[in-house]
Amino acid sequence: MNNKIFVLILIIILITALLFAVKNGTYQINPGPCTNCGNCVSHCPNDAIYYNTHIWNYQINQDLCDGCGNCVAWCPRDAIYFIPPQYIYGDVDGDENVSSYDAALTLQYSAGIISDWTEEQITSGDVNGDGNVSSYDAALILQYSAGIIDEFPVEGGK
Ligand code: SF4
Ligand code: SF4
Repeated sequence: MNNKIFVLILIIILITALLFAVKNGTYQINPGPCTNCGNCVSHCPNDAIYYNTHIWNYQINQDLCDGCGNCVAWCPRDAIYFIPPQYIYGDVDGDENVSSYDAALTLQYSAGIISDWTEEQITSGDVNGDGNVSSYDAALILQYSAGIIDEFPVEGGK
C-alpha cells in the first residue's frame, strides 16, 4: 500500500476513534438477589438500565453503558457484577472483534494520546510481542482487520 494512503487512512480512523470512549468488560444484573428497587436506574448517568418485561427484572443496555460502575456502588444487594473483557490479541477495546477502531486506539496509545489502558489492553495491543505497544502494532492490527494478515507475530505469524 502506498505510504501516503496508509498514513491518510490511519489519520482518518484516528479522528473517528476520538469520538468514542474505551470500554472494557461489561456490567450485568443478577436477577436472583435483585429486588427491582430501582436504585441503580436513578444513579445511572446514561439511562442504560431498563426494565425487561420478559424476565420481570432490570437489565443493562450494553450499547448505552460506559462502564462507570455507579450502579454497583448504589446497589444495596450486590446484584450487579462485572464480567472482564475477553482476551483476544488486537482486540484492545474488548468487543471481541479486531477492527480498524482497535488499530486507531493502539495508535493513540503508542502516541501517548490515551494512557489509561489496563494490563490486558497493553498485552492484547502488543501484537508483535516485543513488550511495547507501538505504531507498528497499530499497523499490524489494521492489516489484520483488513484481512492482509491472518495471524499476529506474537501468535506465530510473520
Ligand atoms: S456501569 Fe454506569 S453506565 Fe453502566 S449501567 Fe452502571 S451506572 Fe449505568
Ligand atoms: S440497585 Fe440492585 S437491587 Fe436495586 S434494582 Fe438495581 S440491581 Fe436490583
